[in-house]
Amino acid sequence: MKFTVLKKDEKSSARTCELTTMHSTIKTPVFMPVATRGAIRAMTLDDIKNIGFDIILSNTYHLYMRPGTDVIDAAGGLHKFMNFNGSFLTDSGGFQVFSLSNLCKVQEEGVEFNSHLDGSKHFFTPEKVLDIQRVIGSDIMMVLDQCTDYPIEKDKARAAMEKTIKWAERSQKYYNETFDRERQACFAIIQGSVYNDLRRECAHRLVDLDLPGYAIGGLSVGEPKELYREMTENLLPHMPENKPRYMMGVGSPLEILFAIKHGVDMFDCVMPTRIARNGTLYTSVGRVNIKAAQYEKDFTPLDPNCSCYVCRTFTRAYLRHIFRAGEIASLIYNTYHNLHFMKQFMDEIRESINAGTFDETYKKWSLIFNGA
Ligand SMILES: [Zn+2]
Repeated sequence: MKFTVLKKDEKSSARTCELTTMHSTIKTPVFMPVATRGAIRAMTLDDIKNIGFDIILSNTYHLYMRPGTDVIDAAGGLHKFMNFNGSFLTDSGGFQVFSLSNLCKVQEEGVEFNSHLDGSKHFFTPEKVLDIQRVIGSDIMMVLDQCTDYPIEKDKARAAMEKTIKWAERSQKYYNETFDRERQACFAIIQGSVYNDLRRECAHRLVDLDLPGYAIGGLSVGEPKELYREMTENLLPHMPENKPRYMMGVGSPLEILFAIKHGVDMFDCVMPTRIARNGTLYTSVGRVNIKAAQYEKDFTPLDPNCSCYVCRTFTRAYLRHIFRAGEIASLIYNTYHNLHFMKQFMDEIRESINAGTFDETYKKWSLIFNGA
């Protein structure tokens, strides 16, 4: 992986960068849609290509459970299995282990857990999750970390952070000794819940490991917006400038904007696709709840400023009708539009940073989505 900072905003820490993997060149800030089990819900591969995503996220835990590493291996990796030629970032599975398993025991060596599918017992170690991501062929791999709930007492947050750092040290050693750095990058994850000093300490100790990229984990897990912002603002100055910075699991346009302003490059979240399936759509005038009665006879496009296929083809009234009728097409159209919106939104932000007008773009979108 190659990483270059292209342009820095003069009034904030926003920046544009270029990240090149073996499969694609990614311009940042970037939003990565989530193909949890090797498919983005309600989307075809053509849809993803048409919208123009050149990096997507997939989940190590889910692929390991089903279809299993042996099937992915026999297929020649996830790129071939899915027939996707762009880049993959895979998470380590840590988040799923801690959130999906009803029986999850953290040990020194790793974490023991039950499959959410059939209850079978499994054990993840830092080395094992890298091995799974090796088979998947991820362009960017994530290390195993210990995720915590919100709220959590400080001593427990510290213990989880210490474990996260120990596992990251083992990951780094294993990565350096057994991986081809050109082919697969490996990012560490900064934890520390909502405690500034823990976050800072975690960042410093992980940065010493000199891994190719750094992520912020454990935010947007139910903490108030103010705390998310405080953590982001305070942590970013402690993350290396010459490496990609990735905010995990944040997909709200407002919070993406805020993080970009403070220097974050990469984002992923299921939110834009999940809310689309529930009838909530992002537009150039804010959120639209397509279920609302006010759209019953509204024969205008969903978003007149959107160039996507859905907005060029259908009316709000029709989209409302097929949503209420439970048509599968409704899931497809709503998801397509929201992903297209996210792509355009990030493109606009990136162009504004390059043009020196990020300040105005920030204000414009803050006003549109404020309170939403
Ligand atoms: Zn649209």
